[in-house]
Amino acid sequence: MRKDEMLRKVRERAEKNEPWDIAVIGGGATGVGVAVDAAARGLSVVLVEAHDFGKGTSSRSTKLVHGGVRYLEQGNIPLVMSALKERGLMRQNAPHLVHDLAFVVPNYSWWEAPFYGIGLKLYDLLAGKYGFGASKLLTKDETLERLPGLEQEELRGGVVYYDGQFDDARLLIHLAMTAADHGGALLNYCPATGLMRDAEGYVNGVIAQDNETGEALTLPAKIVVNATGVFTDSVRQMADPAAETLVVTSQGIHLVFDRSFLKGDTALMVPKTSDGRVLFVIPWHGHAVAGTTDTPVDAPSLEPRPLDEEIEFILDTAGRYLSRPPSREDVLAVYVGLRPLVKGDGKTSALSRDHVLHVDTSGLLTITGGKWTTYRHMAEDCVDHAITLGKLPDLECTTKKLKIHGYLKNAELSGSEEGSLDVYGTDAEAIRELAKNPGLAVRLHSELPYIAAEVVWAARAEMARTVEDVLARRTRALFLNSRAATAMAEPVAKLLAAELGHDDEWAAAQVNEFRTLAKQYMV
Ligand SMILES: Cc1cc2nc3c(=O)[nH]c(=O)nc-3n(C[C@H](O)[C@H](O)[C@H](O)COP(=O)(O)OP(=O)(O)OC[C@H]3O[C@@H](n4cnc5c(N)ncnc54)[C@H](O)[C@@H]3O)c2cc1C
Repeated sequence: MRKDEMLRKVRERAEKNEPWDIAVIGGGATGVGVAVDAAARGLSVVLVEAHDFGKGTSSRSTKLVHGGVRYLEQGNIPLVMSALKERGLMRQNAPHLVHDLAFVVPNYSWWEAPFYGIGLKLYDLLAGKYGFGASKLLTKDETLERLPGLEQEELRGGVVYYDGQFDDARLLIHLAMTAADHGGALLNYCPATGLMRDAEGYVNGVIAQDNETGEALTLPAKIVVNATGVFTDSVRQMADPAAETLVVTSQGIHLVFDRSFLKGDTALMVPKTSDGRVLFVIPWHGHAVAGTTDTPVDAPSLEPRPLDEEIEFILDTAGRYLSRPPSREDVLAVYVGLRPLVKGDGKTSALSRDHVLHVDTSGLLTITGGKWTTYRHMAEDCVDHAITLGKLPDLECTTKKLKIHGYLKNAELSGSEEGSLDVYGTDAEAIRELAKNPGLAVRLHSELPYIAAEVVWAARAEMARTVEDVLARRTRALFLNSRAATAMAEPVAKLLAAELGHDDEWAAAQVNEFRTLAKQYMV
């Protein structure tokens, strides 16, 4: 996946004024999912992302591939069933990136075992043939065996159930590569700045700008899909400045700790926190991640900030369940994501957690809401609509069985394992080959597993353009340990500059920019 190659394809079409079947705005799970679906059906598709792929919410999730136990409690059975099916398909099609994870709901009151035991049996039942393993009641000893770091006072037992876990940004890169493998053109650092119109005023293309060079790009298209998450309305207003807003934003934060806070290979699930939320503490890439919150936000931004009370809330809640309560000093990183919640008839109380398709009078097709786990189903639904609206060839969706780039079965995946190249699937071989050069086999920081060869690979094959791309999304250094990531910025900048043909000045500016950003990930 190379940017120069993508730009060449885009310019070629523009010169011939040959429209793409579909142009997608937004390179998160939703937009890239649409690109995969369209390309795999045999449609021509181009995607533009304003920043890097996954810069928005799609790199900032809780990392769960799940039906959503919480929605079960709300009685939203169709949403849970559909997500559980997608969970199964995701593991089937990307076994190198999605794996099972056991979760324990600890019980401190007499009523919790029967209550959560029955609820989670229903969760198993709804998964049907896509089940990940049967839930089970645990004694106190069995609970502690699975979660040795759990607070023992008044502990009665627990319930274990199974869901999926993944690395969100890495899956996104592999989805982008899947779309590219099928002929799609995907561009990062190319915001859509306007929409093209035909003589009758219908949207028939996208105007974008390559922010790396300033080059203006025109992308004529039979149908334009707006998949910009919390930025949905700003793109809709390019088509119709008077369009009523569709999306409201809520933010969720996560704190990352050393793995010793959560011993064992099991995640902790707190089904009802003091203010009625769900809190997870999960093992991830050799660390423990705790989250999340749900705080209304006025305006979307690409780098949302955590509120002090959100940090305190997670520390306090996690501290009640862990025998060694974490403090602010123990936080290795904090990251924040924004949920695009779709308004129900303008009433915020009726916010939908499901996905929504919307067609503006200009013909702009918007898809938003939903969750990472349901990206494939959302994409199928969206491309089905695009085919009708754009009068495109009626090609069948193929993604239920489409192997994701790097597909590799039986990779040794484990949420607790650090430093494995297995997340790259079959691409790991190429990285190992690069690492035969001793200079590229070196670890970039003693506290994180990443090696120099991964940086070179990210630049050559995964369209990494900046130090942040490498440290935040091609590797997950920034999300795991923001101080270690800061220390890695200099060697990464040097490697990238050599790969991408930039000078020392560029490298120095990149280091400065990254260091400023990384401060926001520190508590
Ligand atoms: C805290 C939190 C935890 C979550 N945890 C989970 C979980 O564990 N499991 C799960 O299944 N789901 C989870 N979700 C939901 C899931 O992360 C989101 O549903 C999903 O990532 C949304 O993807 P998206 O592509 O719609 O939006 P985004 O990822 O935000 O992508 C939109 C993209 O559009 C780009 N863009 C904006 N304007 C323009 C423009 N003019 N031109 C070009 N590009 C533009 C942005 O830069 C951005 O990259 C979580 C969400 C949050 C907030």
